[in-house]
Amino acid sequence: MYTCHCGSNKLYDQCCGMYIDTATPAPTAEALMRSRYCAYTLANIDYIKNTMQGKALLNFNADEARTWAQTVTWLGLQVLKVKQKTQRKAYVTFKASFLNNNGREQTIHEKSEFILKDAKWYYVNGMIK
Ligand SMILES: [Zn+2]
Repeated sequence: MYTCHCGSNKLYDQCCGMYIDTATPAPTAEALMRSRYCAYTLANIDYIKNTMQGKALLNFNADEARTWAQTVTWLGLQVLKVKQKTQRKAYVTFKASFLNNNGREQTIHEKSEFILKDAKWYYVNGMIK
């Protein structure tokens, strides 16, 4: 048992682990975003793939994503802004930091788009800030 990597200060099993390791869908776009970050830290690319649809899936390569997720050292996640646009659409702006395989710190600053479909949230697009 350990503190969840998403920065919530909750135990993994009571945070993103509920969505990553069970069939319980993340209840909000932010919860999904956090659990997707967490899944990247665990190199759980099946979860990443199963929680994306549409444009986001088009250029997604699961093998590359897995290798990349395993190569970098994850430093942390900051959720900067959550905007619930409609009941079925939300945006989450975040920064995710990591050390690349050269030991250089890098930050992904992205505004992610999520949609609710059949009672599940999906990541559908990301705009690099
Ligand atoms: Zn978490």
